Amino acid sequence: MLVVGLVAAGIYFKLPDWRRDTLLSRYRLGADESAEEFQRGHFHFVCAQASRPQAEELASGLERYVEGLIGTFGAPLKIEPETDPVTLYLFESGDQLRDEYQRRYRASLSNNGGFYNPLLGEIVIVAGEQLSASAFHEVGHMVLDRWVVGKRGRWTRWLDEGLATYFEKVVEQQGRLKWGDLDPQALREGKSLIANQRWLTVDELGQATEGDFRRRENSRYYTQSYLLVHFLLHAGQGAYRDGFLRYYDLERLGDLGRTSPARLAGALSMSSAQLDRSWRAYVLGQDE
Ligand SMILES: [Zn+2]
Repeated sequence: MLVVGLVAAGIYFKLPDWRRDTLLSRYRLGADESAEEFQRGHFHFVCAQASRPQAEELASGLERYVEGLIGTFGAPLKIEPETDPVTLYLFESGDQLRDEYQRRYRASLSNNGGFYNPLLGEIVIVAGEQLSASAFHEVGHMVLDRWVVGKRGRWTRWLDEGLATYFEKVVEQQGRLKWGDLDPQALREGKSLIANQRWLTVDELGQATEGDFRRRENSRYYTQSYLLVHFLLHAGQGAYRDGFLRYYDLERLGDLGRTSPARLAGALSMSSAQLDRSWRAYVLGQDE
């Protein structure tokens, strides 16, 4: 009885891992008939057979997006594309994404539409309504990680998320991709955070951790990171842009992931309090 009990316990505890690995191997190895792989431009796509048309459409969209990013930000943000393709897994459900994240990081993911794994150089996203936005966002992280700093480590969280979210909010105008239109939903959320005294200061945002961006109540961290990047690139007809790029270089060339919010203010020749005031005034002064 004891032996049977142990064997049963062994199977019981092994089963969840085994099932997840099987699920993943479908995508990784193409072991399952339904898995498809193809390469297009900078990306190697892995998807279920049923998602192939959506993956093909995403593939063309992503190539345009990447070319646009390089054309627009290649010089100021020092983007140097690699030729190695990045693997992009297109999952079919949010549950599959959350399982995979849990398996890899032993941490839970609440309401994110995908993630980028810097160690493996892989992007995992869920097919669905927000597919392009999720893919643009994660590819933004990949660009900063691989094509800007060459996998040296992780950027300060607000800057990484702020830029990825700014990149994600691209619009098409007269057949061309354009960045910088202020996202109305983010603006509304920003104003509401200020009105409800839930707005984070630059200091608070600058010290936000990976966990803050992953929890269920993570929306204000993303929104404010985006609004701060938008302010730094566009406020006062670009008055803060050079200072922002100096701060970006402090991260890029030296203290990746370790620059304090005070150094952002310093790069702008402002105090943190002045920066806070100007940033809030910028958000409140924008028409919805
Ligand atoms: Zn992100």
